[in-house]
Amino acid sequence: MSSRIQGSTLQLETDVLVIGGGPAGAWAALTAAAKGSNVVLADKGFCGSSGATAPSGTGVWYVEPEGRQRQEAKMSRYFMGGRLAENEWMDRVLDQTYENMNRLGGWGYSFPVDPDGGIFRRGLQGPEYMRLMRKLVKRAGVKILDHSPALELLADEHGVGGAAGVSTQGGDPWRVTAGAVVIATGGCAFLSKALGCNVLTGDGYLMAAEAGAEMSGMEFSNAYAISPTFSSVTKTAYYRYASFYYEDGTVVEGAGSTKGRSVIAKKLLENRQVYARLDQAPADLQPLLRVGQTNFFLPFDRMGIDPFKDMFPVTLRLEGTVRGTGGIHIVDETCATKVPGLYAAGDAATRELICGGFTGGGSHNAAWAMSSGSFAGEGAADYAKSLGRHAARREVHGLSSAPLVSSGTYGSLQEKPPIAAEEYIRAVQEEVMPYDRNLFRTDEGLRDSLQRLDGVWKSIRQEPIHLDYQAVKKREAAAMAATARWMYRSAQARTETRGMHKRVDYPELDETQHYRLITSGLDEISVRAQRVSEEAVSL
Ligand SMILES: Cc1cc2nc3c(=O)[nH]c(=O)nc-3n(C[C@H](O)[C@H](O)[C@H](O)COP(=O)(O)OP(=O)(O)OC[C@H]3O[C@@H](n4cnc5c(N)ncnc54)[C@H](O)[C@@H]3O)c2cc1C
Repeated sequence: MSSRIQGSTLQLETDVLVIGGGPAGAWAALTAAAKGSNVVLADKGFCGSSGATAPSGTGVWYVEPEGRQRQEAKMSRYFMGGRLAENEWMDRVLDQTYENMNRLGGWGYSFPVDPDGGIFRRGLQGPEYMRLMRKLVKRAGVKILDHSPALELLADEHGVGGAAGVSTQGGDPWRVTAGAVVIATGGCAFLSKALGCNVLTGDGYLMAAEAGAEMSGMEFSNAYAISPTFSSVTKTAYYRYASFYYEDGTVVEGAGSTKGRSVIAKKLLENRQVYARLDQAPADLQPLLRVGQTNFFLPFDRMGIDPFKDMFPVTLRLEGTVRGTGGIHIVDETCATKVPGLYAAGDAATRELICGGFTGGGSHNAAWAMSSGSFAGEGAADYAKSLGRHAARREVHGLSSAPLVSSGTYGSLQEKPPIAAEEYIRAVQEEVMPYDRNLFRTDEGLRDSLQRLDGVWKSIRQEPIHLDYQAVKKREAAAMAATARWMYRSAQARTETRGMHKRVDYPELDETQHYRLITSGLDEISVRAQRVSEEAVSL
């Protein structure tokens, strides 16, 4: 790896660049380094505490390799996800997750042990897990750039060869040229204030699409999680022990955490506040729930609320693709995209291959993050090696759809005063957050929103962006606008209800639409159907 400073710009040359330092990015970096590659990892926040996993406990799809358990695990989401998952991919991910979780134990992760000495490997505590991952990544010789969001990919006519960004601590630009790039920037939760999602604005989708990559399953992007109105904690799993009430204590019929979320949404749309109480949690389980997810209880403790005894007001917070399944389309087992040199992993990539049109979290995403990270890291390392050491010295140029310009040229390019990024962000949120637009979808609503979102996109992409730390917000706004448009274009094209995609005007699943929707393009978006390999998943 070579490193130099030109002007105020940090310049690095490496074999593999990983963008994003959550579990997917960390596993990608670790795997690429283990293959002998020089690796740089750039994170928008601090690798080890940034992203969706780091602040929470996370269930992991860890299943013994043999027999009935494996088949049951594969079946568990197959129908819920509208039969879009693939047997072979589920097997690969289960195998890799099993291996990675066992390796974590060997590397010092402390799994809980039950009274019979059995080791519980079906979950990970985010802070401990990600602290260990950072340590391992550093020990493997990976150079970590913290607080260094990537703003655009770099490429030549042969494919992607690096990325450029800016440090949010000081504002200096950075530029890494590389043989291959892994995008592991997480999903897009549209800055809905869900815990850990403040950095998850779909940046990787936008950068990949600017390089020519496609998206898949973007219609499955309307995950809403239950959370107290006064907190950002969206750990929905515990609401399986909840009953839901109106203010006067009468029960909200049909409300629930899995099947009854739409009922809650409908009541909130009618401006009726819904309350929850975890009164179905058995007394002996309550202390264990506290230990399992300590941060779930913090906001309650601060407010003097006992969630097992007291009613508290709830809302549904949009988690978008973070607990949806849409993302960058991958074209082979190495998690390569259709663009040479570009790989995708974790929530940045589509998770349809293992859970079709429905996740809601609950272990599949965590398994996908660690396994797709490993596949992509290996694929990127092999690709970089195949190009040879000179690959990082190619002449590459930036791909941002709105030009990123240095201070000197900015004034002369700017014809009118720029619109604040916050205004664009608000405009996108107004289209994607309301339940009657995104959760309960109709052709009319989608068309209406798309018209406004197209306007937002057009305006954003015409404004040159000054290359300093304020560029980060502008690019986030652009990524959110682009993501919303891919979401709604594919939602419009899927004229049925499947997985988490609900069309009020097409409430039934339509067998003839048993395919994936691949979305591409920036100014003009096109959607095409892709056949799903029909494979038996039998018990
Ligand atoms: C509250 C909550 C609970 C969840 N619980 C579960 C669960 O129990 N089980 C489960 O399977 N899944 C769960 N999930 C899903 C979770 O999203 C994934 O398991 C996992 O975090 C995905 O890993 P990742 O590395 O792809 O993304 P993340 O962990 O989100 O990490 C993405 C990283 O990319 C960085 N980044 C973003 N943009 C840029 C940029 N432009 N440049 C550089 N870096 C960038 C971010 O700073 C971040 O560090 C949960 C999600 C939430 C929000």
